[in-house]
Amino acid sequence: MFTDSHCHLDFTEFDAKRDELMKKCAQLQIQRFIVPGITAKRWSRVITLCQQSPSAYPCLGLHPWWIEKATYADLLLLEQMLAQHPIIAVGEIGIDGAISDIEKQTEYFTKQLAIAKKHNLPVVVHHRKSHHLIVPELKTIALSRAGVIHAFSGNYQQAKAYIDLGYKLGIGGTITYPRASKTINAVKRIPVESILLETDAPAMPLHGFQGEINTPDKIAVVFEHLLALRTEPADRLAQTIEDNVQQLFNL
Ligand SMILES: [Zn+2]
Repeated sequence: MFTDSHCHLDFTEFDAKRDELMKKCAQLQIQRFIVPGITAKRWSRVITLCQQSPSAYPCLGLHPWWIEKATYADLLLLEQMLAQHPIIAVGEIGIDGAISDIEKQTEYFTKQLAIAKKHNLPVVVHHRKSHHLIVPELKTIALSRAGVIHAFSGNYQQAKAYIDLGYKLGIGGTITYPRASKTINAVKRIPVESILLETDAPAMPLHGFQGEINTPDKIAVVFEHLLALRTEPADRLAQTIEDNVQQLFNL
């Protein structure tokens, strides 16, 4: 069995073909989907989707790309929703060093880390050009359940900084690109207990599928690429990754 540990199944891109897609995934043994919320406006959509599909599990958070419009009222609503619904993590949250207003991004990241701590939840962390900003915040907050660094890309030292803090790394389409040699080398070396599989669908199409909408059935392709980088046999690799999902999110 596989879990897509990060896919935006609530997005309208999937409206016409969500059921068909989930059937296709089931045939490939991809049986669980973790669906992160990105803005307060869309949280109820994520909750509704997960209520209708027992194989989908909701996370709620304010994504750094849309932080510009976020308000403190959104943080209050987040706390209310965490109290009312079976949310498995706070996310997708983070800091994106490639976009503006690092100050507001950092403020909302740290406030959401504090909410995760209060509710004893793990976090789903978005990064881009921001390892140096994220690692110190994670160190300071010291969440007991840690979380996952979604769509990890970076070198082994950067991977190790997160692993040392108890975080898992979301491994997705990046490793299908031959040019991603830094990340590929890191993924070869990290402990298998740190690995989660993800697609980030509909974003981040795999190598060979550029320009297409990414879909969660591509977990099978990501797994094949991962298997080629690792020394574990396929069944053990797959089982350990599922154990990692279970251990982190307690589904
Ligand atoms: Zn995402």
